[in-house]
Amino acid sequence: MAAQLILVIDEGTTSTRAMLFGIDGKLRGSQQEELQQYYPATGLVEHDAAEIWTKTLLCCQKMIEQAGGAEKIAAIGITNQRETIVAWDKRSGEPLCKAIVWQDRRTADMCNALKAKDLEPTIQSKTGLLLDPYFSGSKISWILQNKPEVAAVGDNLAFGTIESYLIYRLTGGHHITDATNASRTMLMALDRTDWDDELLALFDIPRKTLPAIVDCAGDLGKTCKELFGAPIKICGSAGDQQAATIGQACFSEGETKATFGTGAFILTNSGVKPPHSKNRLLSTVLYQLNGQRIYALEGSVFVAGSLIQWLRDKIGLIKYAGESEELARSVKDNGGVYLVPALSGIGAPYWKADATATISGLNFSTTKAHIIRAALEAMAYQCHDLKTAFSADGTDWQNLRIDGGMVANDWMVQDLSDILNIPVERPDFIETTALGAAMLAAVGCGAYETLQDASVMIAGFETYHPAIEATQHSARIAGWKKAVDGVLAS
Ligand code: ADP
Repeated sequence: MAAQLILVIDEGTTSTRAMLFGIDGKLRGSQQEELQQYYPATGLVEHDAAEIWTKTLLCCQKMIEQAGGAEKIAAIGITNQRETIVAWDKRSGEPLCKAIVWQDRRTADMCNALKAKDLEPTIQSKTGLLLDPYFSGSKISWILQNKPEVAAVGDNLAFGTIESYLIYRLTGGHHITDATNASRTMLMALDRTDWDDELLALFDIPRKTLPAIVDCAGDLGKTCKELFGAPIKICGSAGDQQAATIGQACFSEGETKATFGTGAFILTNSGVKPPHSKNRLLSTVLYQLNGQRIYALEGSVFVAGSLIQWLRDKIGLIKYAGESEELARSVKDNGGVYLVPALSGIGAPYWKADATATISGLNFSTTKAHIIRAALEAMAYQCHDLKTAFSADGTDWQNLRIDGGMVANDWMVQDLSDILNIPVERPDFIETTALGAAMLAAVGCGAYETLQDASVMIAGFETYHPAIEATQHSARIAGWKKAVDGVLAS
């Protein structure tokens, strides 16, 4: 029987997974390993790339065993946490220092210095990105400046985002990155296919340390025979948010998805021309097939599910994430409490790297249920601010397709529809990131001709409609605005 299964590697911020999909899009199995988060100091977030590799390999081996061997797998699709940067030795494939994670703010000063030289407009018009520590370029620069032992590796030094590192290890030395991940480095002009000399000079990064930029689907390499018993073709690769946009079938201009995981990321398909935001949104590559790019406008919210995790693990207000829904439902309103979750600065559309979080409107009748409700409400408000920015950039959302771990929370989904005042669609299968990677791999191995054809892999969805009174809506928006203004002013 011809190989009919797709193996997806979904390497997220908090865990790494391997998942088996049928060519029909049905999930056949999943293996997951949690990843250790390192917080060496305020604002610093690191991962151990060796741990990511070992755990990814383990998950893949278990899934391949379940499939009945490597020959049953038609192709591998990879999707990954974006922007996080790994430095490794090309000879051994071993990481040379801890990976700097997308949430890490250590390069805020470097970015501010470039802003002070008025370089942001040039960088934005070239890369579609804003000068923020979030993106990989300043992280690579920091490693080269602060880790002499890494810089000393010279010709054998390699940098890459996580999919690039995993492909290097899986193939035994193929140094590539797909165009979606490349578009988050701040080192590639959006309308070019290679690294930009001016940007490389600005961050002082040698070109030879960087991977080749390739399509998101096709022949991206073969796994080393010894890893899984027989080589498997790698046929799909995209950053997690782009993969989710594909998994939500946003193939027409204007179609929009929002993923609520650790952070929340909203992408609108912008078609064949790179969009230019005047409202502090990002332009990015949605996918590249046969050298042709489709672009997206993106709003990146740094804190979403991580707020619930923080309230659970650090503050102890809840015992498990789902309890947030019970508590939010237990009170009739937020009791005047607003929580602005600027726990690692505040992202789109404000971009204030040094902003800190606030809980305001407290009084003696405030209970923990009000605070939890305010935390969940913050998701809808943050999205509302982005909707306003997207609209000012000429992109009105007609509806919003949502996914990610947080959308298991029905209360939050209804609140989102209420505050955005548009229908919100939640797919029956919410692992859209992995599904998008499976769709890319299915196209890359020739099982489907186009991504549109591959959308038969997608199941149905449930729609939530707005059901809030206009006065309540405007009062809540006003309350949020006051709270955000307070955070931005401090
Ligand atoms: P990632 O892929 O970024 O690691 P996921 O998409 O797996 O994240 O989502 C996990 C996040 O969703 C966690 O931060 C968790 O706190 C949050 N979460 C999970 N279930 C709920 C729930 N019922 N209500 C609110 N938040 C939830």
